[in-house]
Amino acid sequence: MYSIVIPVYNERDTIPALYERVKNVIDSFDAPAEVVIIEDGGTDGSFELLKEIHKRDPRFKVLSFSRNFGHQVAISAGLEHASGDAVMIIDGDLQDPPEVLPQFVAKWKEGFDVVYAIRTKRKENIFKRAAYAVFYRILNQLSYLDIPLDSGDFCLMDKRAVEALCKLPERKRFVRGLRTWVGFRQIGLAYERDKRFAGEPKYTFTRLLGLAYDGIFSISTTPLRVAVYIGFSLAALAFLGGLLVVYDKLVYGIALVGWSSTIVVITFLGGVILSTLGIIGEYVSRIYEEVKNRPLYVVKERLGL
Ligand code: UDP
Ligand code: MG
Repeated sequence: MYSIVIPVYNERDTIPALYERVKNVIDSFDAPAEVVIIEDGGTDGSFELLKEIHKRDPRFKVLSFSRNFGHQVAISAGLEHASGDAVMIIDGDLQDPPEVLPQFVAKWKEGFDVVYAIRTKRKENIFKRAAYAVFYRILNQLSYLDIPLDSGDFCLMDKRAVEALCKLPERKRFVRGLRTWVGFRQIGLAYERDKRFAGEPKYTFTRLLGLAYDGIFSISTTPLRVAVYIGFSLAALAFLGGLLVVYDKLVYGIALVGWSSTIVVITFLGGVILSTLGIIGEYVSRIYEEVKNRPLYVVKERLGL
């Protein structure tokens, strides 16, 4: 059996088209399929639409959250509830064309456990594209994992990989990082990412930044090491500066006067100390979130699950 997981948050205008296109794709599969839609606490009546669809076609199952818990949590919930031997993830805004999925399935049948999509062309504005390009490159520099460049959550995973991923207990979920972490035989497939079918992106700039933070801090401790390096370099610099001052005093008998330079140094050091504390703070807050051990999400309604 095949499963398709779709997170949906306020996508009322897209849902009818989404249903049609996904239905055509699963009709073409050579085995039964289920579609697990995670309705992420939307307020625009998406759930009512999905309810009708479920009545018409019970292969479409729905899990509705009690409030908005976020895209990555929605995907994680979908993976937990999917029972297929191969589980696919697509966005609910039709940016990931469902028609590509049969190619994923073909790769899976060749024996790959994880088939992920690589975006060749993003139809988004230049700033967003540049930001993504920089982010993925930084992420790979910082992490011991090789997260494939420009791959999103759009993928197919074998049951084994899904089970491994669901066992990871962490609350801050960066699914594409965790997917790389689980290993198995992975392969990327290039595709062109479409424009949003309707509506506005649900990721605001701040939320994207949050995702980028989660990406970096949840799979890498390199920032901590960078802080240490900066600290050592500055200490070395200060030591050399101190030698210079003593030398000047002994040889030329002058002590440097300079209010401005002092202020600059103090401000600079203050900046370094605060940002280093901030980096430590990121990890502490993550420890705090994990220690609370709250459930990832709260379910309001289930249809067919
Ligand atoms: N989404 C979600 N919960 C959220 C935000 C987004 O389930 O809190 C869904 C959204 O409905 C869409 C997918 O996640 O199907 C991707 O969101 P979006 O298109 O805003 O992200 P982008 O394509 O800009 O990365
Ligand atoms: Mg989108």
